[in-house]
Amino acid sequence: MTRTFIHGGTVVSATGSQPLDVLVDGETVVAVLHPGSTALGADLAAAADRVLDATGKYVIPGGVDGHTHMQMPFGGTEASDTFATGTRAAAWGGTTTIVDFVVQKPGERVQDTLGSWHQKAAGQCAVDYGFHQIIGEVDDESLKGMSELVAEGVTSFKLFMAYPGVFYSTDGQILRAMQSAAGLGALLMMHAENGIAIDVLVEQALARGDTAPYFHGTTRPWQMEEEATHRAIMLAQLTGAPLYVVHVSAGQALAQIATARDAGQNVFGETCPQYLYLSLEEHLAAPGFEGAKWVCSTPLRSRAEGHQEELWRYLRTGDVATVSTDHCPFCMKDQKDMGIGDFSKIPNGIGGVEHRMDLMFQGVQSGQISLERWVEVCCTTPARMFGMYPRKGVISPGADADIVIYDPRGHTSIGLGKTHHMNMDYSAYEGFEIDGHVDTVLSRGRVIVDDGAYLGSIGHGRFVKRQLSQNLI
Ligand SMILES: [Zn+2]
Repeated sequence: MTRTFIHGGTVVSATGSQPLDVLVDGETVVAVLHPGSTALGADLAAAADRVLDATGKYVIPGGVDGHTHMQMPFGGTEASDTFATGTRAAAWGGTTTIVDFVVQKPGERVQDTLGSWHQKAAGQCAVDYGFHQIIGEVDDESLKGMSELVAEGVTSFKLFMAYPGVFYSTDGQILRAMQSAAGLGALLMMHAENGIAIDVLVEQALARGDTAPYFHGTTRPWQMEEEATHRAIMLAQLTGAPLYVVHVSAGQALAQIATARDAGQNVFGETCPQYLYLSLEEHLAAPGFEGAKWVCSTPLRSRAEGHQEELWRYLRTGDVATVSTDHCPFCMKDQKDMGIGDFSKIPNGIGGVEHRMDLMFQGVQSGQISLERWVEVCCTTPARMFGMYPRKGVISPGADADIVIYDPRGHTSIGLGKTHHMNMDYSAYEGFEIDGHVDTVLSRGRVIVDDGAYLGSIGHGRFVKRQLSQNLI
């Protein structure tokens, strides 16, 4: 077993930061010690096989990205990152666990779809991975499947109020799935946008000749997100299901979540870096077809409307519980360009699995969130939310040695030819200059990124069998 000693750094957790040394044996953290402690012998550095100097740097738990879509089929194509390329990019950016989505469509058995996702991911991943299950058709058969999946470590289920004819669930179907989730104690995840009304707005826009990517944003206005979020909260309140609202982008939707939480309801909000940094005016409205790079749903919101400030504020208050990427990359060539002349045909998604830790650290640098809150929303709460704590999301004895050494004085330039390991022909964050740098990444004790070199391997990542959520009120 390889013993690794990380010394000189400041260990940051969700609850505090202090100078601590970390001893790793094999795949596991065995001790977190005050510098100079002789509790385990006088010279731990001398007894270790590998010593990592973290002087002046933060030592944080590996990132947990609770929302990714590797090689996901969508709109006649497939997300351009495979489990191999996507998890490698995640590792580069300091994320050591992802939770990806298995997709069930009408006519498919839920259990079969989980089997086929296991086949896609097994032996391919650079870092550990778990699965959520998308229920594309709620019926007796798929509801039965939900209970079987919980026993297999898939303990969260996602429904869609958007995308009629694809993933859409009616309110009646949502009610039934929530009743099942409540009975199982499983987390119900919701894409909350009123898809029926949105489809009418899309049709009307296209009929007017408004076909550019910009109109993807204007046909999915915040009212459609707030309304659906409220409806999901009411159905969850009625059934007692814990509700996790994915990729919240509208301040008004978050206000609904905050109200429900204040009333003591198990409702949680997730947002993504794209909603905190990118906007309708500056990105979706880019000239020509450029805006297609930033077509995702929920859409980027108007900066002038103040959503970004609201998202940051709710990040501080805890009503935004987690930050994930909703990593769903498509290339411009042969993928996004299917929507030239009709924005509704642009595959929905932005790639960002590589940049979440860096982008959210900018919130620390600008004083929007504390250092501890950074670790909490990017690592610890996602691990608890999805039943992986304390194996993931914390540096403590017994935890998997998923550790990132982060240099707050380092620098990272994002963009093609710079920091970009995702399988995409553009970067959604091209030109972003980051104050901070992921220096070293350990996944279950193994150094997979160090000093600009990739040392990981395909197949190192293992499936994480998850417990029920540990984050309920
Ligand atoms: Zn998603």
